[in-house]
Amino acid sequence: MKPLIIANWKCNPTTLNEAKELLNSVVERAKDFNNVEIVICPPFVFLSSLINDSTAFGAQNCYSEDKGAFTGEVSALMLEDLGCKYVILGHSERRNIFKETNQEINLKLKKILDSSLIPILCIGENREDREEGKTFEILGEQLEACLNGASKEKAKKIVLAYEPVWAIGTGKFAEPSKIEEVRVFIKEFLSKKFDEDVSNEIKIIYGGSVDSKNVHSYLTESNMSGVLVGGASLKANEFLEIIKSA
Ligand code: PEP
Repeated sequence: MKPLIIANWKCNPTTLNEAKELLNSVVERAKDFNNVEIVICPPFVFLSSLINDSTAFGAQNCYSEDKGAFTGEVSALMLEDLGCKYVILGHSERRNIFKETNQEINLKLKKILDSSLIPILCIGENREDREEGKTFEILGEQLEACLNGASKEKAKKIVLAYEPVWAIGTGKFAEPSKIEEVRVFIKEFLSKKFDEDVSNEIKIIYGGSVDSKNVHSYLTESNMSGVLVGGASLKANEFLEIIKSA
């Protein structure tokens, strides 16, 4: 299976022209590398101008209702209509800065599972959790609450992104063997919650300061099915190197 390489542009860049330039410089030059599946997640406002048939696009969030009096929100129906394929849910920046709870993420996840969109569900412990030896406890809580009520059939399409908060945007290198331990934990959790088939179908990917030097280790030593890339996805040359090294 081709590794998933997901670019999370976050709240960048600031103009549509820059967004078009970044997309073109990546996509044009990545044409020769069909060893990976690339997904670009730009800010909402740029999606409709960038979306095209030759690249897969994702949104960085969405709301749990289809439409109505929810000022500032964007629904799954709108993203489907645009031609979006993926939606990132529960990113740690949404959890920490915007105070999104596991329960809210769960409502969003169920809405996405009912649509044609593929959820990229992010989970991860913060530095204190890890230092206090609570990594698996926190991840178990997040998984239990976020996946609550998801059917086996629909859960198969979930992409599960393990993103330790202490490794996001910090340049901190997370040991691939430690990441592999977490992958095994998530896989066992999914087997118990659903069954082994579902657990085998759900792609588990890694995110946290991924770059062209470490990407290969996460895909091979940690056995991850892909990576979620933040900062490095904004630098066309580095993102291309990640694609080449995957
Ligand atoms: C992210 O935002 O999901 C992420 C992994 O960021 P970075 O690659 O910059 O650590």
